[in-house]
Amino acid sequence: MTTSEPDCLFCKIVAGEVPAEIVREGGSTVAFRDINPQAPTHVLVIPRDHYPDAGAAGRAGVGIMDEIAREAHEVAEAEGIAASGYRLVFNTGPGAGQTVFHVHGHVLGGRGLEWPPG
Ligand code: 5GP
Ligand code: ZN
Repeated sequence: MTTSEPDCLFCKIVAGEVPAEIVREGGSTVAFRDINPQAPTHVLVIPRDHYPDAGAAGRAGVGIMDEIAREAHEVAEAEGIAASGYRLVFNTGPGAGQTVFHVHGHVLGGRGLEWPPG
């Protein structure tokens, strides 16, 4: 069963109603370039189904967080950043900077990624 939310921007990208530069499609995920990249490679990996955040997706217990991590690594390999290193980030909740409430993993790489950030 596919779940979507009518007013969700990322559901619209999944449905093809909002354009995006898609770099990879899996059976249950879509990966596309962030419109406002924070690194030379900045790709978002999302499930086709709507879950508001990583907590909800994990609790659903259907392996979607696994799938996002697997797809993120495939993206990193395709982008040539798997060996040098990349960051997979899930902002969860408004206080952590989440602005789109359809779970997405940010795949960031291609530059130095100091830790802690900033
Ligand atoms: P968040 O802040 O929720 O963790 O991440 C949301 C991300 O979605 C941001 O990095 C933002 O640049 C990106 N974004 C917002 N609107 C669009 C859009 O219409 N298309 C694409 N490709 N990315 C978007
Ligand atoms: Zn959605």
